[in-house]
Amino acid sequence: MAIDCLVLGAGQEVGKSCVVVSINGKRIMFDCGMHMGYTDSRRYPDFSLISKTGDFDNALTCVIITHFHLDHIGALPYFTEVCGYRGPVYMTYPTKALAPLMLEDYRKNMDRRGEDGQFTSDHITECMKKVIPVDLKQTVQVDKDLQIRAYYAGHVLGAAMFYAKVGDAAMVYTGDYNMTPDRHLGAAQIDRLQLDLLITESTYATTIRDSRYGREREFLKAVHNCVAAGGKVLIPTFALGRAQELCILLEDYWERMNLKVPIYFSSGLTIQANMYYKMLINWTSQKIKETYATHNAFDFKNVQNFDRSLINAPGPCVLFATPGMISGGFSLEVFMQWAPSEINLITLPGYCVAGTIGHKLMSGKPTKIDLDKDTQVDVRCQIHQLSFSPHTDAKGIMDLVKFLSPKHAILVHGEKPKMATLKERIQSELGIQCYCPANNDTVTIPTTHYVKADASDAFIKSCLNPNFKFSKSSSVDKSYSGSNDSKAIPGLQVSDERVAEGILVVEKGKKAKVIHQDELLHMLGENKHEVQFAYCFPMRTERLEKTRSEDLPSADDLLCGLDKCTLISLLSTKLSNELSDGNIQDLGEQLQVESFCLSICLKDNCPHRISDSLQNDSEVVFFCCSWSVADEMLAWKIISIMKNYTLPLEGRLQVRI
Ligand SMILES: [Zn+2]
Ligand SMILES: [Zn+2]
Ligand SMILES: [Zn+2]
Repeated sequence: MAIDCLVLGAGQEVGKSCVVVSINGKRIMFDCGMHMGYTDSRRYPDFSLISKTGDFDNALTCVIITHFHLDHIGALPYFTEVCGYRGPVYMTYPTKALAPLMLEDYRKNMDRRGEDGQFTSDHITECMKKVIPVDLKQTVQVDKDLQIRAYYAGHVLGAAMFYAKVGDAAMVYTGDYNMTPDRHLGAAQIDRLQLDLLITESTYATTIRDSRYGREREFLKAVHNCVAAGGKVLIPTFALGRAQELCILLEDYWERMNLKVPIYFSSGLTIQANMYYKMLINWTSQKIKETYATHNAFDFKNVQNFDRSLINAPGPCVLFATPGMISGGFSLEVFMQWAPSEINLITLPGYCVAGTIGHKLMSGKPTKIDLDKDTQVDVRCQIHQLSFSPHTDAKGIMDLVKFLSPKHAILVHGEKPKMATLKERIQSELGIQCYCPANNDTVTIPTTHYVKADASDAFIKSCLNPNFKFSKSSSVDKSYSGSNDSKAIPGLQVSDERVAEGILVVEKGKKAKVIHQDELLHMLGENKHEVQFAYCFPMRTERLEKTRSEDLPSADDLLCGLDKCTLISLLSTKLSNELSDGNIQDLGEQLQVESFCLSICLKDNCPHRISDSLQNDSEVVFFCCSWSVADEMLAWKIISIMKNYTLPLEGRLQVRI
């Protein structure tokens, strides 16, 4: 089994996020975004790669949208209303509430630019009707095999990471996220999950950020300096997200500094959005929730609606205008009026998609910008780039990947060279296979099949028994070597390696179970069988070799009257000298080393006797021995020592005869 991951957008770039994942027969589209930098066919993902015939209902199990940013949802009305996808679409409650505002704002801007609308107001309404809203940490059964669950992602209100599981295969798609809390949102939060695949954004793949505080102050100082000198501040943002975050920051500052300069929102839209933010207070940061009873942070006292006639009105002001990145619409209109004056200030977000005016302003310090072949704008105003961002930095990405420890990781939503650096880090530091596919590439990764089994109490108890091994440390510390002190006590090392041996029992119709071996005997009604090895072998005796004579009695006759204990004691001494391991015990007529047991054999037809050239030799004594499988090595070692040894019996036996 495998997971196939087809990247339709945000592969080695930021914009039009869209990843189609096939997992155990289910096919999920994560995000359905648009690219803000293009107005041609490159604006949308190439949906024909999902289905040549356009039968998207059969090609996809569901669509999951992580948050309301247009690079994640901008193509959804087009996909459902123009391409005709009728299947389920999942997103969180706030995303469902806020996404239509975002899409409507964008649609209006497209109309203003005189582009092909591609989708209408009605399309947005109809599209949103297909959406099934989900709560955080709610497990949703999409069909009998596919489970999904949303986790808090920070980033913007309602943003979620999504977990998807089909059979044993499981994955997480992060969307955009932030690992540190900001002015209005908390940090991303996710459970420790067993994952085959993690698909993560990587906007700031190589950036490590310090605290927000200083960077927020820089922004406030730049705004304050501009309005104090009578200038106008343009803050191009999308209607939702950054607008509310910066507004909280400015409101707080305005109160503290007692500033009276007006703050405007470019249309009723953002005022409406603020209302939603007030309602969705549960999704915001802990701090905002705590102070909610006395003051709702989204009650912006100093903020007013902006009227077009105010563009050229005298005096300072601060204006939030959509869309962000100055990709067209009203923010572009205001930019054209205000950019030529050096007392004005334009702020830019930390990240602007290639192809937007924002991106052009960020690259170098252009003095002129060509809008089209007839229109040019002089740029003399000040430009301040916000250095705080609702995206995680490189440390946050590494922390998340490490925390989740998936078997494989795929990076999307980033810049190619930086992604390559991060990919190397993930592979070398975390040992996780990582990929950065380009748009329209497919990555195939294997999945795991788990056998889930219960464990019996007896088995669990056996796992808890310590299994100590003691060893003397072999290496002598170099600092002692000069002293040549042979009496130095070598360090004793204790290790406790617990290897539990159990038996996996799979009974028809029952769940697999791991049990202790004693339990199996009980289950089967059997007694324990132990495999014993036995061997009967001859040893030469010295006395008989030397004083061989026909009058003398045979070895057997001799042995009848022989003190067996003497022989055993002789062998015991011999083994003590030759054998380094094993606990040798002289038990009188028997010798025991661990499970190895040896005694003199007087039976003529001993079943353990293996025919030997010495068999009929009267000069030999037979020894019968047995051992269990665990001591096999030890047994053969002892036997070989004995076979190479001749019993020095002469003096002692003569005394007896
Ligand atoms: Zn986003
Ligand atoms: Zn994004
Ligand atoms: Zn025997």
